[in-house]
Amino acid sequence: MKITRVEAIPLRLPDLDGTRADGIQDDVIVRVHTDAGITGLGEADASPEVVKALVDAPVSWARSQGLAGMLIGENPLHTERLWDKMYQGTLWMGRGGVTIEAISAVDIALWDIKGKALGLPVHTLLGGARRDTISLYASMLFEKDLGLMRERAQRHVAEGYRAVKFGWGPMGPDLATDVALVRTAREAIGDAALLVDAGAPWTAREAIRRVDAFWEYRPFWLEEALASDDLPGWARLTAAARGMRIATGEQETLAGAFRALLEIGHVDVIQPDLARAGGFTQCRRIADLAVANHALCVPHAWKSGILVAASLHFAATLADIPFVEYTVAPSPLRRDLIRTDVQVANGVARIPQTPGLGLEVNDEILQRYRVDL
Ligand SMILES: [Mg+2]
Repeated sequence: MKITRVEAIPLRLPDLDGTRADGIQDDVIVRVHTDAGITGLGEADASPEVVKALVDAPVSWARSQGLAGMLIGENPLHTERLWDKMYQGTLWMGRGGVTIEAISAVDIALWDIKGKALGLPVHTLLGGARRDTISLYASMLFEKDLGLMRERAQRHVAEGYRAVKFGWGPMGPDLATDVALVRTAREAIGDAALLVDAGAPWTAREAIRRVDAFWEYRPFWLEEALASDDLPGWARLTAAARGMRIATGEQETLAGAFRALLEIGHVDVIQPDLARAGGFTQCRRIADLAVANHALCVPHAWKSGILVAASLHFAATLADIPFVEYTVAPSPLRRDLIRTDVQVANGVARIPQTPGLGLEVNDEILQRYRVDL
C-alpha cells in the first residue's frame, strides 16, 4: 500500500469571534489517500491555513520540506518511521509548535489507515483497550456571574458528569475573586471531582497562595497555574502543593518538554493533546514518560469528533486514567462535521470498536464551512 495524496482542508464558521476562548470555531482536517482506496482522517488544533501551508509547501532543502512531498509513495503503515521522517524533514521550520501540530494531523490519519487496513480499532493497535467505557469530565468556563456559573455547573452534574472542569475567565488577578469562584464551583457540583484550570496567570509565589486558599474546596487538580516554560516555578509550586495535584502541558508539542515538566517541575498530571503533541506516535512516548515518573497522563481535547474519537482510543489503552476531557461546545464543527460511533450517556463514553478511528465526514457540513485558499 502506498500514499497517493495528502489533503489539508481548512474550515471556518462565518461568525468566528477571535476574542472567545473556544478553539472549535475553525478547524483543519487532513485526509491521507492510498492506492488501496483506504483514506485516513486526522486534524490539528492549530491555525488551519498555517497547517495547510506546512502540508503543501514544496521542498526547500533536506531539512525544510512540506509534509505531503515527504509522504507520497510511502507505506502508510510505517507510522514510527514516517513520524521521524517528517520531524527530520522539517527541522529548519519546526522542532516544535505548529509544525508538530501539522505532523499530529497526518499521524492521526496514518493510524486511522492502519486500523482500517488491518480491520482493527486503533486502541488494539496501540496495545489494547483496558476498559470498555471511560468517565468524561465536562469542561466549562468560570463566569463573573456566579449565579449563571452555578446553574451551568449544576446542569452538567444533573446530566450525569462526575467531574467538572472550570477554567479561565475571571480567574487570576485577585485572590478573593478566585476563592469565591472555587467555593461557588464546589458548592454547585457537590461531591463530583472539581478541576480548576487557571489559564497560566500566576508566578509561583501567587500560585502557592492559591493552593493554600483553595485547599478546603478539594480540587482534584490545579491546571496551568504557571507559564508552561517556568520549570523552576513548577518545581517550587509542586514542592509546596500539600498533595494537591498540579496539572499542565496542553501548550507543549515535544516529548522533551513533557520530560522536563515531569523530571524538573515534578508535575503530577500531564495533558498532551493528540492534535498538537504529535498524534498517537509521539503521545505514546509522552504517556510512557508519565508512567516512568509515576504521574498521570490525561489528554487535552477541544476540537471536532476526530479528536474526541482519537482521545478515547488513546485513553482506553492507558493503565491509570481517571477521566478524559469532553468538549460540550455547541459549534457545528464539533457537533455535526464528523459522524462517529462514540456513544455518551450519563457522563460516560463507550470506547469505539470499529476499525481505525470509526470516523465518517459529513460532506454537507464540510462543503458549507470549508475555506478554499
Ligand atoms: Mg486547560
